[in-house]
Amino acid sequence: MLNIVLFGPPGAGKGTQSQRLVERYGLIHLSTGDLLRAEIAAGSVLGLEAKKLMDQGVLVPDSVVIGMIESRLLTQQDARGFIFDGFPRTIAQAEALDTLLNTHGAPVRCMLSLVVSEPELVARLLKRGADSGRADDSDESVIRTRVQEYERKTAPVAGHYHKQNKLREVNGVGAIEEIFQALCREVDGCAV
Ligand code: AMP
Repeated sequence: MLNIVLFGPPGAGKGTQSQRLVERYGLIHLSTGDLLRAEIAAGSVLGLEAKKLMDQGVLVPDSVVIGMIESRLLTQQDARGFIFDGFPRTIAQAEALDTLLNTHGAPVRCMLSLVVSEPELVARLLKRGADSGRADDSDESVIRTRVQEYERKTAPVAGHYHKQNKLREVNGVGAIEEIFQALCREVDGCAV
């Protein structure tokens, strides 16, 4: 099984590159942001609770996202592998993911980290908000909160995988295809 964590701040290009990696390697895409937006669209209690936090740009509780990931892993046990997009976002989530995957005998193979500067991120998110109408991409103060949440709670997750010698950094600025090729080189390099 090939399990990859695609990492980086909001607006780094994780969604765009995930789609390509899914096609290239035959993986299942697991985005906690997409799963939460599906809960909101379905009008579930979980979705309504999560929406309040997402609209402010803060993280939803670890237990919520860990539960969603666990149920996906259990229902798709015959997958060739998963690409985790926007998860794990805290050290507690990373530890929970390691435990879940270790029980399946298929730990994270590598963490691909897209590196993009903060001014570039804010500009990209504002553009995405204008194009898509996504609420948490439209307000500059919400965007800044999301970037701060990332720096405070999420950036340390890179250190978690660095200690396991699984962190691979890739420049996230440039042509989409070039970034994709750089990501593929890293995946192929860390494949056993
Ligand atoms: P994203 O689409 O990945 O940018 O996520 C949008 C929002 O969903 C984030 O700002 C958080 O409020 C919430 N969210 C998504 N994934 C997670 C996660 N792994 N942990 C906590 N909150 C999350």
